[in-house]
Amino acid sequence: MFYNRGSGDGLAGPSNPSKGGEDTTSGRHTMDIFDEMERRGHEQVIFNYDRASGLKAIIAIHDTTLGPALGGCRMLPYASEEAALLDVLRLSEGMTYKAAAAGLDFGGGKTVIMGDPATDKSEVLFRALGRFIDTLGGRYRTGEDVGTSEDDFVQSLRETQYLVGLPTAYGGSGDTGDNTALGVMQAIYAALMHRYGSTSLKGRRVAVQGLGKVGYHVARHAVEAGATVVAADINPHVVGRVASELGIEPTDPWAVLETPCDVFAPCALGNVINHSTVGTLKCQIIAGSANNQLEDDALAAQLREREILYAPDFIANAGGLIQVADEIQGYNPDRVRHQIEAIYDLLLAVFKEADETGRSTTDVALDHVHKRLEAIHRIHRIHA
Ligand code: NAD
Repeated sequence: MFYNRGSGDGLAGPSNPSKGGEDTTSGRHTMDIFDEMERRGHEQVIFNYDRASGLKAIIAIHDTTLGPALGGCRMLPYASEEAALLDVLRLSEGMTYKAAAAGLDFGGGKTVIMGDPATDKSEVLFRALGRFIDTLGGRYRTGEDVGTSEDDFVQSLRETQYLVGLPTAYGGSGDTGDNTALGVMQAIYAALMHRYGSTSLKGRRVAVQGLGKVGYHVARHAVEAGATVVAADINPHVVGRVASELGIEPTDPWAVLETPCDVFAPCALGNVINHSTVGTLKCQIIAGSANNQLEDDALAAQLREREILYAPDFIANAGGLIQVADEIQGYNPDRVRHQIEAIYDLLLAVFKEADETGRSTTDVALDHVHKRLEAIHRIHRIHA
């Protein structure tokens, strides 16, 4: 049982679990972990503690209907254990949807390490994590995410083989930024086709928020395709470098949300579309790489009312997952490219069905995911 200290005590994730109760001795609101697992559909949550390294990590396995769980490992100075738990529950659930929508045979999982990536990393910490991952015997694989790097997992590799996204020198497929960006471009093309009847970016205005590993490539591909690109990053050096290299128009990190444009590509933060920002958007299309772009799913309906076409993030940003999933069977860039291109057709179908049914694109996409999970679950009844 965890105490819910209300909103704002964590770095990410919902702060008000839907179920909970009053702790009669202290009067504090509490969260029941099993209720939360039931509500979200989780199979397993593992708390890992190692005294020697100080490792405190939570692994959440959401759903393994499609195959072993796959999902990165975040390291953040969470304000509380509850904040870390809610983050890992929410992120692992999202991984199930991302893998299912991409047609992969993997389930959803995620790890969070409670700690400051700037000061708390060590060889022994990532080796200890590796040993815990190994105890799962391949039921879950992990790799880099926010706050961790591929080099951290080179340490874990000494203890377990169940890793993805390693440097090429260690048998991995390297950075996922460009493949994620290529998936975002497929999402942009599908949205342009649906909205304007053509995939052409010539003369279109694209606003990119965040010019990191993914956003840089989105900006580059959009410029190469003939778009005018407006972009922002909180790091002024990054904006300056990309502006002179690609000829983009720099703007302020928050002004980018309100920039009049055809396509807004959020490639920085989650929760960027929230109840305060949704009314200020001046774009026709939203398609970007950030995870959890909408603060809550209800905002997808508001976007629909505002006639803003939203490419659900867990479909648009699947390129990196497709790449690391492919490593497990022996990395083949052509196969990865082929699977990333499928994002285009999937989103066209989602957009069409959303229009025909009057539902949000997120609702339709989640329906698609649940149908696949149920159908694969049913064929598992066949004894083979
Ligand atoms: P990154 O850390 O390389 O880049 C993020 C960039 O955003 C940084 O340059 C940072 O300075 C900038 N930024 C942060 N806050 C900002 C703000 N308020 N306004 C403007 N810029 C801001 O990360 P990345 O790998 O490019 O990932 C970007 C997003 O896409 C993240 O949400 C990530 O979870 C998601 N994502 C990434 C991948 C991948 O393959 N890298 C895959 C799926 C999803």
